Amino acid sequence: MELNKQNRLAAGLLSERFPQVSGIVISMTYYQKGANPVLMLRTVNVVPTDSAYFNMECVIKGCVDGGFDLSKIIANMVKARKKIGKGKLTCCGKTDVHPSDHASIDYEIDIRYNKKLR
Ligand SMILES: [Zn+2]
Repeated sequence: MELNKQNRLAAGLLSERFPQVSGIVISMTYYQKGANPVLMLRTVNVVPTDSAYFNMECVIKGCVDGGFDLSKIIANMVKARKKIGKGKLTCCGKTDVHPSDHASIDYEIDIRYNKKLR
């Protein structure tokens, strides 16, 4: 938890990192291995005053060093001024019970840009 907080602070604010962005909506479907693959749906709204931290934690119990890092994907989208991005990420963490690929997400990223800044 403490490390997470530090990472968030280190990431800076969305308005500092990407001043041309007025907002980001990240919609995710979390999947796990097993009979009931859909774990949950989650939507994250990021506004300019939020930290530019896009490493979504893995929700599987006992997962170490896992998560879904959307930072690079979002940075590339902003660079290309892309509005919508979709894809799939697999957790790279490990748990005692499951060796790897125990969880994945489908994501859709929706980025809104400021019209004034070019
Ligand atoms: Zn995990």
